[in-house]
Amino acid sequence: MATSLESGAVFPDYVDLPHVVIIGGGFAGIAVARGLANKNVRVTIIDKHNFHTFLPLLYQVATAMLEPAEVAYPIRTIFGKAKNVGFRHAQVREVDHARSVVVLEHGGEITFDHLVVATGATAAFFGIPGASQFAMPLYSLADARRLRNRLLTSLEEADASADTTPISLNFIIVGGGPTGVETSGALSELIKTVIKRDGLRIDPTRVRVMLVDLAPRLLTPFPEKASAYAKRELEKMGVEIELGRSVVEVEERAIRFADGERMKVAAVIWAAGVTASGTMAHDVQPSPGPGGRLRVMPDLRLVESNNVWAVGDAAAVPLDETSLCPQLAPVAMQSGRHCAEQILRTIDGKPTTSFRYRNKGIMATIGRHAAIAKLPGGTVFKGTTGWLAWLGLHLWYLVGFRNRLRVMINWTWRYFDWPSGPRLIVADAETAE
Ligand SMILES: Cc1cc2nc3c(=O)[nH]c(=O)nc-3n(C[C@H](O)[C@H](O)[C@H](O)COP(=O)(O)OP(=O)(O)OC[C@H]3O[C@@H](n4cnc5c(N)ncnc54)[C@H](O)[C@@H]3O)c2cc1C
Repeated sequence: MATSLESGAVFPDYVDLPHVVIIGGGFAGIAVARGLANKNVRVTIIDKHNFHTFLPLLYQVATAMLEPAEVAYPIRTIFGKAKNVGFRHAQVREVDHARSVVVLEHGGEITFDHLVVATGATAAFFGIPGASQFAMPLYSLADARRLRNRLLTSLEEADASADTTPISLNFIIVGGGPTGVETSGALSELIKTVIKRDGLRIDPTRVRVMLVDLAPRLLTPFPEKASAYAKRELEKMGVEIELGRSVVEVEERAIRFADGERMKVAAVIWAAGVTASGTMAHDVQPSPGPGGRLRVMPDLRLVESNNVWAVGDAAAVPLDETSLCPQLAPVAMQSGRHCAEQILRTIDGKPTTSFRYRNKGIMATIGRHAAIAKLPGGTVFKGTTGWLAWLGLHLWYLVGFRNRLRVMINWTWRYFDWPSGPRLIVADAETAE
């Protein structure tokens, strides 16, 4: 059994127990730790942020609907009562398999008996020149705050130009999946709100919110009828939809399309897809699977390993013999729970079992009273029913009772008084990570 060279805060009684190190406190890592809490193991979660982020609501932070603290929760607080779970606030640089050691970015090593890689994914820029430098992804709380600053600052710039030469604002959202759809709808609402309620002197005809995708329709995992509904609803909200259109370059304040058009922009919001390439997980295995996701066996143990496991977005979690699970929160949570069970079985000398994903359906919201929910059997709900289902589910999975309560109060408040919202430009967000 390994001893920790440097561990998280664990209680002395647990020091001699097998040490499970989890890299990443997202949906998957938290699920693993919950499954191991108060069991006969010592657990250390390592995360570069000291909080868990509820990624599905980041777009509401970016569009000034929610405060950052409402979608994040300190990891230490989640496990405050579990004496065998510790936390280490650090970025992991690499894994030394030969020594069963995790190497931290700013020095220090942590040894493990079992390691779980739950480092998630990151924005995929597909090698498009300038995209990683100038486009704004939405993958962390810092991204959301940075984007909120950019959006609000651009609107203030437009107001300031009203007396001289009024400027035009183009906001381009790249990617017509749930994140792109949700963000463009919310941004369009934000713009209408600041013009009507905050007295910004902006000519609405000079502001464009454009959603661009290479695919011929929005929300491709949903049936065509649902995609058409989303398009109609967004257009009603003033969003321009450009399908079958590809971006070839992003500049500091401009975007260039394959058809040669170059457009000046206030912001390019990048929601075009995710990848595990370029994340720490990518280097954990000599030849990872598609999208840099770690190749795992049916029990979620890394191929060619006895004691390293991978879960959530970082892992190529098998759906069946030929396909992989989508990179979604329910997959992350279910794979995390399964992994915890398998680690305990392994420690007890029992054989492991294969992971099986239980599809809970998918959903996307478009705006107030407009959302789509597709149930596992294929039934689709849209409109108010879909929207209520979306609200309920997101509240249910939000970590922390206080956050649930605050978000519920805010949503209810805004239902009756839509323009309320934290429209704050917080200067330090440009540099925060
Ligand atoms: C904007 C957005 C909206 C989404 N909306 C939905 C939705 O509506 N429904 C849905 O089902 N799914 C949605 N998803 C996908 C869902 O959020 C992911 O599938 C899920 O978060 C994956 O969980 P995870 O634990 O694998 O990774 P993550 O939640 O990404 O967590 C990874 C953790 O690892 C940490 N980490 C990474 N690298 C290191 C390192 N080197 N050292 C230390 N720590 C590290 C990170 O800080 C992070 O806390 C959305 C994703 C995004 C980005």
